[in-house]
Amino acid sequence: MVRVRFAPSPTGNLHIGGGRTALFNWLYAQAKSGKFILRIEDTDQERSKQEYVEEILNSLKWLGFNWDEIYYQSKRFNIYTEYANKLLKEGRAYKEKLAERSSETIIFKVNPGKIKINDLIRQEIEFDTALIKDQVLIKSDGTPTYNFACVVDDATMDITHVIRGDDHISNTPKQVMLYEALGLAVPKFAHLPLILGMEGGRLSKRTGATAISDYRKMGYLAQALVNYLLLLSWAPGENRERIDIKEAIKLFDVSDVNKTAATFDLKKLNWFNNQYLKNEDSEKLADQIIPLLIEKNYIVKENFDGSACPPSAGSLTINPERSRRIDRQYLVSLVKLFQARLSTINDFSDWADFFFTEDITIDPKAKEKYLSSDLSREFKLFINKLDGLDKFDIDSIEESFRKLVEELGIESKALIHPIRVAITGKTIGPGLFEVIYYLGKDRTKARLLKWIERGG
Ligand code: GLU
Repeated sequence: MVRVRFAPSPTGNLHIGGGRTALFNWLYAQAKSGKFILRIEDTDQERSKQEYVEEILNSLKWLGFNWDEIYYQSKRFNIYTEYANKLLKEGRAYKEKLAERSSETIIFKVNPGKIKINDLIRQEIEFDTALIKDQVLIKSDGTPTYNFACVVDDATMDITHVIRGDDHISNTPKQVMLYEALGLAVPKFAHLPLILGMEGGRLSKRTGATAISDYRKMGYLAQALVNYLLLLSWAPGENRERIDIKEAIKLFDVSDVNKTAATFDLKKLNWFNNQYLKNEDSEKLADQIIPLLIEKNYIVKENFDGSACPPSAGSLTINPERSRRIDRQYLVSLVKLFQARLSTINDFSDWADFFFTEDITIDPKAKEKYLSSDLSREFKLFINKLDGLDKFDIDSIEESFRKLVEELGIESKALIHPIRVAITGKTIGPGLFEVIYYLGKDRTKARLLKWIERGG
């Protein structure tokens, strides 16, 4: 039975690199019908924080990587001491005072020799232990070192495959020596390649290495992020990029992971997110967008009680200043209108802001380009056309517009762009006639009139 583990230290948030390590472990467990174990490596009691534990657990849950078992190293100190004492008794370790006034430390004696591992990704790697110093197992404060706790845990938790970042390669021979000294079975190792930033260096905050929870806050979909992380170091073949996680489970094997470093490209992630957003169920997307609109004060839930708004709970009201009622179905229609062009969920409130406020900001460049000449006459004529409509629907709006430009003998674009800018503030967006339809006749007219009155 395959048993893999993800072993984060709660000294910081879960970042992109950790997210990918978790993914590959989780995926391998699913692919082999094995178990995915989560081990919180909180031996450093000063740097470990409960808030990071929570952040890591929440991020893993959000990504969909549910674990079968969870352990905290801080609760297992007696087990490490027991194993260290065994090594002491067998003469494989000794005690020493590393500082004058401190208590003793238990140190492992390193014998010179060669250690070979058959890494599942990088094949054979050989290490010369003559280059490795004796290793501290238990520090003078009684806490175990990472390498020692890791070996005791991987062995006692029956871990079959250790899949982790290749920044741990130098730890591997140290750990193998400990397995051998303790007479424990050595697991298989798979070291995942580094993830580089776009500029070649290590991922840093500057190049996009923010926490997984930040991506969530920025409006990325978990499925898109998982798909992107997957392709950072693995390919399903046939040049496929979008892959459903269930299918990935069927195709994945850790030995197919790339050896070479991956590059984290935010643009590519945005592309993935857009692909997923495009295809996301609009109702579900609306559920995620509504709280953001409430936060922006774009919509207010009727009798809003201050708690988070359960999105499916009936009708919503636009900001009370305007007290325009807007129901959920209307919002879902707006989501449908914009979802193909969103890179993140949060983009919606930027793209669609003009639906939620009368106080629209007109992009100065757009104004200069499309509204510098006096279009009062054309705008008035368009208002008349809208007023004359029997039915206010998308087709009729379009038809009336087409008629108008024909009568005026001008090109459509000579009026489409100025109207769009006047009523939305932007040069791009969904089809103008759909925008007018969802904005409604009164609001469209009011915005055009306001423009006329101001005289541009
Ligand atoms: N706590 C270590 C880390 O976060 C785990 C390394 C390992 O997987 O062995 O890097």
